[in-house]
Amino acid sequence: MSTYLLAFAIGDLVSKSTTTRDGTLVRVWSWRGTEMFLDEAVNTSKTCVEVMTDFTGIKFPLEKLDHLAVPHFAAGGMENWGLIVYASQYVFFDPKQDTTVTRIGGIDVRCHEIAHQWFGDLVTADWWSDIMLHESFAAYFEDYALVQGWPSQINYLDPAYVGSSIEDGFKSDMNNSHPVITTDGTFDGVVYAKGSGLFRMLSQLLSPTIFQSAIRDYLNKYQYSTANHYQLFEAMNEIVSQTGLTDWCNNPLNVTRFMEPWLTQPHFPLLTVKYDQSSHTYFVDQQPFIPRDQLYPRGFNYAWPIPFYAQQIKTGSIKKYWTNRYYQCPHNFDADAAATLPGVQIPAINDNPLIVNANSNTFARIQYDDFTFNKIIDGLNQGYYKLSSESLIRLINDELALVHRNAKFSGQTSYLRSMKIVASALINNNTNSAAVFQAAKSLIDEMVRLGVDMSERGLFEVSSFNFLLIH
Ligand SMILES: [Zn+2]
Repeated sequence: MSTYLLAFAIGDLVSKSTTTRDGTLVRVWSWRGTEMFLDEAVNTSKTCVEVMTDFTGIKFPLEKLDHLAVPHFAAGGMENWGLIVYASQYVFFDPKQDTTVTRIGGIDVRCHEIAHQWFGDLVTADWWSDIMLHESFAAYFEDYALVQGWPSQINYLDPAYVGSSIEDGFKSDMNNSHPVITTDGTFDGVVYAKGSGLFRMLSQLLSPTIFQSAIRDYLNKYQYSTANHYQLFEAMNEIVSQTGLTDWCNNPLNVTRFMEPWLTQPHFPLLTVKYDQSSHTYFVDQQPFIPRDQLYPRGFNYAWPIPFYAQQIKTGSIKKYWTNRYYQCPHNFDADAAATLPGVQIPAINDNPLIVNANSNTFARIQYDDFTFNKIIDGLNQGYYKLSSESLIRLINDELALVHRNAKFSGQTSYLRSMKIVASALINNNTNSAAVFQAAKSLIDEMVRLGVDMSERGLFEVSSFNFLLIH
């Protein structure tokens, strides 16, 4: 165990305790007089420990796992092995007063720290540059543990993760882009949220079962020791090589080669979707989300091997594709050469609109041409089809992000498409997650801000007028 994980605490403390299925003692501690607020934390922490034990196949190695709430703390929590310390607001819960948001926020932080007991404590990164082996995993397992531990709430929890954590990954990368693997390690949204989004994409690519087997092998191989990301992916390759999974060149999938462009270059891709009406074909291509002329040269030329999941809505089937910037085989990262490729061609079925990045399983934003976008809107407005909450959140957030990008780099701004998708998403169907409304609210809040900012007043009035014309 690394020395930074050693902790002890002394004080006039009280506790509540329980035991996991396999006999690990789980206790939650706080200062005297607050014991009535600890029941929620002890019960839900037990669930998180059991979910992580089931996933990893490794029993929590210590006899007990303590959780200590303190009045002031520099972070949400610190994953000392067997004695996690938290800011008290992530532990206390008063069912008479506190909200569901408070409850989930607390479980989220605690599941993150509990995931660290395996990812960071049992296997520790070689050096801070590989801090993603701690933080990207722990952030990924926040969502995983919530969904597995409270499966009846999946329709809220997974969209909420897409709307908050995945979105935080995109925004953090926009604000301060750097590779997930850095020289000395960085504790920010790129490593936490973007890193977790990359693991979500990898899990979908491998399949959750193979992803789990590969991670189990990694943990078993390096437990009570240290590892780096090469060793993680090599451990994964041993499993993946037995599965028949293939890459963008139809060669056996190599996880290291797949992940390298995602982890060692900054920024993220934009998938563009264009419909050719004469051939009834969609063309999907990639470019960096930030205009290329704003970027410094990099080894992979801001191209990524992108598995994406396209859904011809109405027929409902979701199919995996690879972007073809990597279809030149052997692997070619030459952006100029790749630019001559026409894009992945996807024949349209009965001219149905195409949703790219269905369920938000790829770490990329999407830009639809007007024709495709309007077809999606028409279908939603007329109730022809239903989209998952994750797909709706992807649409809403990508449109708004494109508004901001265009305003910053080209000076052109129109909120019209953003408002259209929000208006249509809200009448999509009656199973929308609350997270869809939260995504919609971010646009509405922005419109309100524009309304009170006199320099933007004209834009707001034009946009509002257009908004009123939609319905
Ligand atoms: Zn952490």
